[in-house]
Order: sequence, then C-alpha cells, then structure tokens
Amino acid sequence: MNSILVYHTISSPAKALPGDIDISPERFEQQLQWLSRWCKVVRLTHTLRPTPGSRKVAITFDDGFRDNLTVALPLLERFKLPMTLFVTAGFVGTGLYLSREEVHELSKHPLITIGAHGLLHRHFTKMTRAEAKFELKHSRKMLEEMTGKTVDLMAWPYGECNDELEQLSEEAGYRASWSVWRGHNTRHSLFRVPLGRNDNMPRFIAKVSGAYFPVKTLENKIADLRLKIADRRRPANVLSQALPKNSEISIQ
Ligand SMILES: [Zn+2]
Repeated sequence: MNSILVYHTISSPAKALPGDIDISPERFEQQLQWLSRWCKVVRLTHTLRPTPGSRKVAITFDDGFRDNLTVALPLLERFKLPMTLFVTAGFVGTGLYLSREEVHELSKHPLITIGAHGLLHRHFTKMTRAEAKFELKHSRKMLEEMTGKTVDLMAWPYGECNDELEQLSEEAGYRASWSVWRGHNTRHSLFRVPLGRNDNMPRFIAKVSGAYFPVKTLENKIADLRLKIADRRRPANVLSQALPKNSEISIQ
C-alpha cells in the first residue's frame, strides 16, 4: 500500500492549532530530507495506479495556507519533490490563505497539482445531498477558473466521507478523492496519513512506512463502535448534542 501524507500549515505558532495541523519548517525539512533519501516520492496521481511490491509516497497539503507557497515550496524545490495542494475554494484571498493570483501561479509550477477541498470547509457528512452536490461542483468550478486547468482531484474536509458522498464525488467528475485515515480506500475515499507538530522522526518513519497504520485503523474502528453504541443508547432528540463540536474533531 502507498503512503499519502497530508500536511496543512508549515509554521510554528506558539500554541498548537486545533486538529494538530501545524508543523515547524525545521521538522518539515528534516522529513523531506529523509523522504528524498529513502522513499520513492511520486505525484499523487501516480499512486492511483496499482504497482504491487513497491511502496510509493505522495505529499499533499490541505486548506491552501499561504505558507505552502512561501515556506513549503522552496523546500520541495530543493529536494525536487512533487506536491498536491487541496485548496478550500472559499478561503482563497482571505486571512492566512493563498490569493487567487498565488493559486494561479502555483498551478503553473511543474511540481504542483491543484485539487479541491470543498467550498467552505464544512462537514460533508452533515450536509444535505443538494448542499454536497453544490459544494462539489462549485469548488471545482472556482478553482478551474483560477487555474485555467482541469481540477479533478479532491480531499474531503476533516477526512469525512461515506458511500453516498463517494458516489456524488464521482458524479461531479472527480477522478479520485482522499480521506484521512478513514474510508474504504476505494477510488473515492483513499487513506491519507496526517502529520503534525508532534511527529518526531521515529513517529514520522512509522507513519510513512505503514507501521503506524494498523494501530490507527484499529483505534478508529473502536472509536466508531463506541460512538454507535452511545448513539443507540441515547434518545433521538439529544443525539445532535452528543456529537463532537466541529472544531474538536481531530484529523489524526
Ligand atoms: Zn481541511
């Protein structure tokens, strides 16, 4: 099985961002150095082709933080490693995120592929079918207008997907979509491994090599089962109150 890594922001905020999404430039550089020496790092689309026997690694970024351009790209150029940026279309041009011009510039870079990541980074599993269809369609359209290129890859915000969403994503014209840890690992919910500030080298190597994978999959299954059991025991009218708040859901 291939290892698809997902990063968010390459920065060192004093306080960890919710969801463990920040990693320092120093730690990121160390990881790239290790990858370039020991792994076969390929474009994300190359991992869609089955090649038994050789584990490949692809690098992705979610959300579209500006530091993907200013901090990550120079390092990736130095090590000549490709990356895919899953950009939240509605975030473009706001706060810490890339501008339209920057997305356009990045899309022309030979090491970079642009993919979609929803319109406003909402939970797809909590949307109506119509809302999900709207987001899938319009996030893609906006990014295609910005880049002048076909955008047919996507990553689910919070890594959340299900059978119905997989089908909608296919109908919306996406070739493939990626989750985080969870999913069926079919063409529309492919596993990715998230990296954050706590990933020192031994932990990073375990994640890249797949050694960490069975542990995490088992943890997720247990967590899902616990949630299901708790849901069954709870009266229907308090179900929604019992679900974790959006900001508290960890992607790891
Ligand atoms: Zn995201």
